[in-house]
Amino acid sequence: MSSEKELRLAMLTAVAQTISRHAEELTQLDQAIGDGDHGINMKRGFDAVMADSAGLVEKPWPEFLKGVGMTLVMKVGGASGPLFGTLFMTLGKELPGNPCAGDVAGALEAAIQAVQARGKSEAGQKTMLDVLVPVAAQLRKDALALTDLVTVAAAAAEATGPMKAIRGRASFLGDRSIGHVDPGARSSALMVAAVVGAVKG
Ligand code: ADP
Ligand code: MG
Ligand code: MG
Repeated sequence: MSSEKELRLAMLTAVAQTISRHAEELTQLDQAIGDGDHGINMKRGFDAVMADSAGLVEKPWPEFLKGVGMTLVMKVGGASGPLFGTLFMTLGKELPGNPCAGDVAGALEAAIQAVQARGKSEAGQKTMLDVLVPVAAQLRKDALALTDLVTVAAAAAEATGPMKAIRGRASFLGDRSIGHVDPGARSSALMVAAVVGAVKG
């Protein structure tokens, strides 16, 4: 197997496994400030991606990422499906066929812009963007400092706890959303840690 293909499979497997292992936790976070389906939604999406993984990892990075994103849009549902789907599809659109570490920050910045346009949202509103934006900034600062990326993502997810939700179902709770970590922020941090783990091997 080519090393790029192995890396795609390792990343996909790591992300799907972490979502599956933390599905209960993600659902509990969503029970506190949403409708209690985030873990179930994400697990359904990545189970579907894994069912198709043999075909997906054969494709070059752009088509691979677009394929992952399209499956997430179709299978995850809720608010997070179209948003994570848009994230992965735009990463695929923006990355060159043979990407290097230095290409990732720009692609993630473009993908974040697409998520923001789709979600009519921005960082500071207690969503996945509160993890994705600082992760992109850290990548821009040093694309090779992989451990820092995991630390930044985990801290950013925790930092959504004291925030008041302005977007998504949690915003219906107003001040009562304060004191709970955002589920989509947590799943974003889990995915960052999984991807970094796969890159480190
Ligand atoms: P739903 O809320 O439709 O049940 P999920 O529970 O799967 O969908 O996902 C909820 C997560 O989606 C939230 O925790 C938040 O991170 C993210 N989210 C919701 N709305 C938006 C938005 N407009 N922009 C960015 N992220 C959002
Ligand atoms: Mg939900
Ligand atoms: Mg829902």
